[in-house]
Amino acid sequence: MESRKSNPQIRRALCYANGNKQQERSPSVIVIGGGMAGVTAARALHDASFQVVLLESRERLGGRIHTNYSFGFPVDLGASWLHGVCNENPLAPVIGRLGLPLYRTSEDNSVLYDHDLESYALFDMDGKQVPLELVKNVGVAFETILQETDKVRRDFSEDMSVLRALSIVFERKPELRLEGLAHKVLQWYLCRMEGWFAADADTISVKCWDEEELLPGGHGLMVRGYLPVIHTLAKGLDIRLGHRVTKITRRYNGVKVTVENGKTFAADAAIITIPLGVLKSKRIKFEPKLPDWKEAAIADLGVGIENKIILHFGNVFWPNVEFLGVVAETSYECSYFLNLHKAAGHPVLVYMPAGQLARDIEKMSDEAAANFAFSQLKRILPEASSPIQYLVSRWGTEIDSLGSYSYDMVGKPHDLYERLRVPVDNLFFAGEATSSNYPGSVHGAYSTGMMAAEDCRMRVLERYGELDLFQPVMGEESPMSIPLLISRL
Ligand SMILES: Cc1cc2nc3c(=O)[nH]c(=O)nc-3n(C[C@H](O)[C@H](O)[C@H](O)COP(=O)(O)OP(=O)(O)OC[C@H]3O[C@@H](n4cnc5c(N)ncnc54)[C@H](O)[C@@H]3O)c2cc1C
Repeated sequence: MESRKSNPQIRRALCYANGNKQQERSPSVIVIGGGMAGVTAARALHDASFQVVLLESRERLGGRIHTNYSFGFPVDLGASWLHGVCNENPLAPVIGRLGLPLYRTSEDNSVLYDHDLESYALFDMDGKQVPLELVKNVGVAFETILQETDKVRRDFSEDMSVLRALSIVFERKPELRLEGLAHKVLQWYLCRMEGWFAADADTISVKCWDEEELLPGGHGLMVRGYLPVIHTLAKGLDIRLGHRVTKITRRYNGVKVTVENGKTFAADAAIITIPLGVLKSKRIKFEPKLPDWKEAAIADLGVGIENKIILHFGNVFWPNVEFLGVVAETSYECSYFLNLHKAAGHPVLVYMPAGQLARDIEKMSDEAAANFAFSQLKRILPEASSPIQYLVSRWGTEIDSLGSYSYDMVGKPHDLYERLRVPVDNLFFAGEATSSNYPGSVHGAYSTGMMAAEDCRMRVLERYGELDLFQPVMGEESPMSIPLLISRL
């Protein structure tokens, strides 16, 4: 591993005694996983003059950021929104510096509505459009119903699912029940909520569903795709693609990481950014095994599925709205399409199934999945012409993700995210599932990557007794005045 940055202060610090000789050696770290968290951590430690090697199993960087260019323009099969278009968003400066345009789909900051209600065109199964007034009214009613679930969770000591809490609300206040078309629209809102968590309402914890921090500024779609952000952060790093890690051995004085072909890498520490689904699968062997509290956190935190079926058409034949939806008796039967023509000018609709529906669709071939999505569209637009191309994601079954993102399951505490993040000796953990403030998001993955890099830097340098000589992770140009870290009991 070679250190690329030339910094005299650092170089001086890297020399430490080896018998009578002075040997130059900088602290080293192996970053496992080349998604947003891994690339961020590697960038930060590289800039702090660590020797960094990043091991990524796939033949591409980005992980659950996967911008595809095969249509001749960028489309995202994974993340596509910046949730919280504001300066407080840790990722905003990076996106801002790159000058990447965002298309804001919502002014408000609700988990329930990442699109303004006015921008929907909803239809019933027979293709009849739902009056916009009804769409808006049911949106308001859904918020009232959810406020009532807040009372339910305060009245019951034990946790329950969002679905169960909703049914208790309807038992207590029958006047909140909706009938006919309004009921179907309500199911559609529930379906959207399930999309946010990538999980069905009967598995989402009513105690924790709103624990995440919502940044202000609404939700902004990355019009040119998310990948440029990854590639910018990854510039100049030592990245080994096609290196799937199978074993992580930790010792007092370092870590050894083994990849599929038997090759090993050694360093002072490792930052593990492997997706929660992969950690759950236990395909990676830890030696010695991880402590029980860490294993329990991995087992108890939920991982859901959301997929994208991206349909590219020869022409635009649908209404000029941001979201097209089909309302139905149950949330499972509802569906929705993001209109990329409105946001990016491309004749593309993105169908996004989540939870059990996504799991069921993953059992189909790509062609059958695309046909299924198209059949949903035909319900509302019978004259729709067939797509000329399609792309289908399989986040639930791809062996390098085994899920889309994490969520709080019924009966499990929200502090599991923090437990997943806490280091074990010289193993540091990052990734969306380690972010208690912003789980399931790109900016959550980014901020945990920064945190893990800083924790790792402190720990490794403390051990060498050289902390005073090193630059902090934020780099040489950091401001002169940095607030003191003061805590009190
Ligand atoms: C369909 C979908 C839509 C989404 N939409 C949004 C959105 O609009 N906005 C938003 O903020 N977030 C969204 N997300 C969530 C967001 O994509 C993730 O939270 C974030 O990208 C996760 O980054 P990460 O670094 O934690 O994990 P990953 O990106 O998954 O990175 C982990 C890396 O580890 C690699 N890896 C796995 N196993 C091994 C191994 N054994 N050895 C070496 N490497 C390994 C993987 O290949 C991967 O590259 C979406 C996710 C999905 C799936």
